[in-house]
Parts: sequence; C-alpha cells; structure tokens
Amino acid sequence: MAEFTVQLKAVLKENLYCRECGEWVYTPEMNGTCKNEQGQEVECIGEGCVKKDAKGEFMECPGCSSRYYIND
Ligand SMILES: [Zn+2]
Repeated sequence: MAEFTVQLKAVLKENLYCRECGEWVYTPEMNGTCKNEQGQEVECIGEGCVKKDAKGEFMECPGCSSRYYIND
C-alpha cells in the first residue's frame, strides 16, 4: 500500500487516478459544497469520499488501497 499527497485544488478540478494501479479514485463530479472558516460556501470533496487517520484526511484507492492524503 503506497501513500501519496495530492493538492486539494487539483483534486477538485481533475480526475484522480491511482498512481500505483491506475484505478479511478475520484472525480470532480462528486464535489460538494461546504462552509469555510469565514462562513463562505466553497467547493469541497464530496461527503463520504474522505477518510481520516492520524496523518490527516485521505482518499483510498478502491483497487489497491493506496492512500492519497489531501493537502490544502
Ligand atoms: Zn490503486
């Protein structure tokens, strides 16, 4: 299982394919909206697509379980 870091802005705009196995991990079509610290509505990764562990928030490849940690 590999671990990568991806930029939030890139994930919100482009399909994310697994760098290990090529499986499709996330598409911007699943984006949702959430409120930021200033109370403004902003685009964010769809609910339920993000998991959390001690290192932070990540998306998991459905093919090989590689983790893509989200860096904003
Ligand atoms: Zn994979």
